Amino acid sequence: MNRVLIVEDEKDLANLLADYLKHNQFETRIISDGAAVMGAFQTFQPDLILLDLMLPNKDGLTLCREIRSQSAIPIIMVTAKIEEIDRLLGLELGADDYICKPFSPREVIARVKAVLRRTLASTDGQSTTPGGLIMDENTLSATLFGEQLSLTAVEFRLLKTLSEDPRRIFSRDQLMDSMYNDRRVVNDRTIDSHINKLRKKLSAACPHQEVVHSVYGVGYKFELPHSLHNC
Ligand code: CA
Repeated sequence: MNRVLIVEDEKDLANLLADYLKHNQFETRIISDGAAVMGAFQTFQPDLILLDLMLPNKDGLTLCREIRSQSAIPIIMVTAKIEEIDRLLGLELGADDYICKPFSPREVIARVKAVLRRTLASTDGQSTTPGGLIMDENTLSATLFGEQLSLTAVEFRLLKTLSEDPRRIFSRDQLMDSMYNDRRVVNDRTIDSHINKLRKKLSAACPHQEVVHSVYGVGYKFELPHSLHNC
């Protein structure tokens, strides 16, 4: 049974959504206070979040960013203004879909199912990059061509950042931004040393080809061989 966290401060609307979702075999929890969302996210462990934009105490934009910083869970943003949607799309919040009020509950169910189908296609939090890298954010585990890589949290984030944008050259500064909230704790050498350790682990799965390439004087990029045979 998939769990949907309904973040909505209009009580009647929240209850209506919960009824429809339950009728469609979803387990639900309703949160009406923006400040209570992160707590419920941890304890309820939803598979999808319906996130209203205007909420008391903490707004949907802030919450979407906060949730995205720690999870790849599907988020559907709900807004009362259709004009808002263009702006929201431009903000690149990482939401998976947007729904405009007023909506029919039927439409919401259809969207919820479609987003879940899309995101759960590769099962719980896993993402597959073309070519055989599978990363699971929930367990911080990664496999390359079926070979398990034992990565530290920092190495995992590095590999995730690089592999999500294959062939893009990342500077050390960009990699640091993606890895640390507090830049004061790191310097260029720290990045290089993490990259070296990451490469060593990758080479266990792909010994004959570099996966993380260093681009002299610029930074690093990720590029996988097309198949295991080229490893
Ligand atoms: Ca609201």
